[in-house]
Amino acid sequence: MNENENEILKEISDLKDAYFNLLSSLFRLSEAISFKFSLEEIFLIALELLNSAKPYYYGAIFMSAGDSYELKYSMGDSANQKRIRDLSAELFPWVLTGQKKVSVLPDFDERTGAELGSTILIPLLSKEKPLGIISLLSKSSAEVYLKQDLELFSIIGNQTAVAIHNALLYQTMEEKNRELGNLKNYQDNILENIENAILVTDLSGKITTFNRSAEKLFGFTHEKALSQSFRTVFPGKGGESLGIALKNASDLQHTEVIEVEFYAQLKPIPLEITVSPLIEIGSGISGFIISCRNLSQSREIERLREIDRIKSELISNVSHELRTPLTSIKAYAETMINMIDNGESETITERDFLSVIDSETERLTGLIDELLTLSQLESKRVKLKLEEFEVGALIHEVEVLVRELIKKREITFSFGIRESVTIKSDREKIKQILVNLVSNAVKYNKEKGKIKVTLRKVGGECMIKVADTGIGIPRDAKEKIFNRFFRVDSSMTYEISGTGLGLSICKDLAEFCRGRISFSSRLGYGSVFKLFLPLEQ
Ligand code: ADP
Repeated sequence: MNENENEILKEISDLKDAYFNLLSSLFRLSEAISFKFSLEEIFLIALELLNSAKPYYYGAIFMSAGDSYELKYSMGDSANQKRIRDLSAELFPWVLTGQKKVSVLPDFDERTGAELGSTILIPLLSKEKPLGIISLLSKSSAEVYLKQDLELFSIIGNQTAVAIHNALLYQTMEEKNRELGNLKNYQDNILENIENAILVTDLSGKITTFNRSAEKLFGFTHEKALSQSFRTVFPGKGGESLGIALKNASDLQHTEVIEVEFYAQLKPIPLEITVSPLIEIGSGISGFIISCRNLSQSREIERLREIDRIKSELISNVSHELRTPLTSIKAYAETMINMIDNGESETITERDFLSVIDSETERLTGLIDELLTLSQLESKRVKLKLEEFEVGALIHEVEVLVRELIKKREITFSFGIRESVTIKSDREKIKQILVNLVSNAVKYNKEKGKIKVTLRKVGGECMIKVADTGIGIPRDAKEKIFNRFFRVDSSMTYEISGTGLGLSICKDLAEFCRGRISFSSRLGYGSVFKLFLPLEQ
């Protein structure tokens, strides 16, 4: 083998080595494109690859940042950093906008003009968009570079740009994922800590989400509830109503609000349920969001507020009603004492005074009785004492009780008792109702008016009708007549003493005895109150 042949062989072997080096670097770069998402690693591989292709003094990677360029990575002799930065800054726009290809420019010594080597500028273009540039300060002069070298640089530049593009995409994706993760965490937190029980179902009603409050309310763990039908956690009538609400929400594509009772250990819990269709953009309804609010607490607050209101009304109304008879009792008693002290005692006058004291005391007793009944009704301490009795006889007893009053006002009282009716009910409570109705018929009657009490069986009920020819009740008072403390707002009513409690107590007592009260009236002509009671309890 002659020297020439040896040299050729050596050259072939060197070329082979270089080729393998290049191949392995290219392989690392293509690996980086697919798997490396760290920019630093990509920069390092790219610069190493370029160095093994054609050694350089110094290599740097600049990335565009708005209108300028930032040095992101460099390799080699850093004494050249300023020089390459200045050169690149000058050439950057030119390479990136005009030239899409690799440029090799001769590099001269500014003082001597001698050629130092060359500057190679490789654009990093991703889908034609400039990402940055790789600048190399090469030891070789510009003429040394062949077309193939430039093509290789261009391939490396393109591959690096793709890898950078992927890494940036990956970074954005990671950021988005982190944001999404945070958002999901945030939403999960709200969902778990919200007081309302929240269930999400698919279209068939199978549960896909079940929050902590739902676990507490329905007594199901999240794991057990998932994939079950909503009817499993919400059986019975409440579940049926919920099923209808789901159907309506789906048919009408709107939010349905229903109130139902859920029985937890036989205790009813009032719930306000809002059913909203879960609408996915482009694919329509995919399920339902069911939000349940426990109304027990707000009902209790409402009840307490009502009691509070009743109490304050009671104090103002009752204190007035108590004061009036007490003032007259005191005045008459004092006058009598003075008369006795001054020896002016007169039997006739004393009798009159005592009769006023007696009737005022009766008024007071009546008021106190009303208050007692009211307090018993409010605290639910009333008990039903059932006994069989003849209703006609009870009506006669009531008439006897109000006879004095009737006489005083010259009212005609008549009975319309055509048949004997025996019922089983609470006699005392029915008597209390009738005394009240008949007293009202007297109080709100005109002088020399009429009252008629009729007794009849109607269907399966006993009906007692109290009709008067009194002042009547205006239409606008119809709705409120059974409300506590309601009194018709008219000068005529205010002349007649009363608290506005009687009818409300009558209504409660009638319902307590499983009966009801209704009335009709014509202003200026009279009123008819009807008490219906079941014949059998
Ligand atoms: P009170 O008689 O103490 O005011 P009630 O609850 O018995 O209270 O009656 C409420 C109101 O209804 C009365 O204030 C009166 O305005 C009206 N009312 C009740 N009964 C009659 C009646 N028979 N005729 C006309 N108005 C009546």
